[in-house]
Amino acid sequence: MAPLSDPPPLSAPISRKIAWANRAFALWAPTLLEDQAFSTRVKLLEDATARSRHAMAEAGITALCAECETREGGSCCGAGLEDRYDSLLLLLNRLMGVHLPGATTRPGSCRFLGEGGCVLKARHVICVNYLCGKIIKAVDPGALTRLRDLEGEELETLFLLHEELRRLLRQLRSTGEA
Ligand code: SF4
Ligand code: SF4
Repeated sequence: MAPLSDPPPLSAPISRKIAWANRAFALWAPTLLEDQAFSTRVKLLEDATARSRHAMAEAGITALCAECETREGGSCCGAGLEDRYDSLLLLLNRLMGVHLPGATTRPGSCRFLGEGGCVLKARHVICVNYLCGKIIKAVDPGALTRLRDLEGEELETLFLLHEELRRLLRQLRSTGEA
């Protein structure tokens, strides 16, 4: 297999960044996941993400978002938000078992909005942190505080994993493996 080019910049079209992430996954997934420290961090992120998704559901937020989708003309995951994702964050999602959609399935919506909500596991800070007025009015403040704490853990774990991926890719390149 031919070596891979540098990751496209954040400003590149999402299709190009997804294509790079898919190719990087095909080339490097076994090497990256064989790294014990890296795969432990991936597992930590999976666990942290599961905890904050669970807290969202418990607080009733998942149901409120589904209501927007089914009764109020669509969620706030609008077209263009996918452009906030960089190539490495997309590769992290691939390493966590996410299939990245090759085309927009829902015109007017973010590329990553699937039938059951967001398809990503490693999400951008703007996606993790966003709470609309409807949620702030409807949800118990204590539940929101607990959710904020869990989201903080999720984002910190994601940051460390993203940095570790950057470091490993640099190392692979310097040894001529990438
Ligand atoms: S965050 Fe708010 S506006 Fe967006 S889908 Fe959920 S409830 Fe609806
Ligand atoms: S939460 Fe997911 S679907 Fe919504 S804007 Fe973010 S990436 Fe897109």
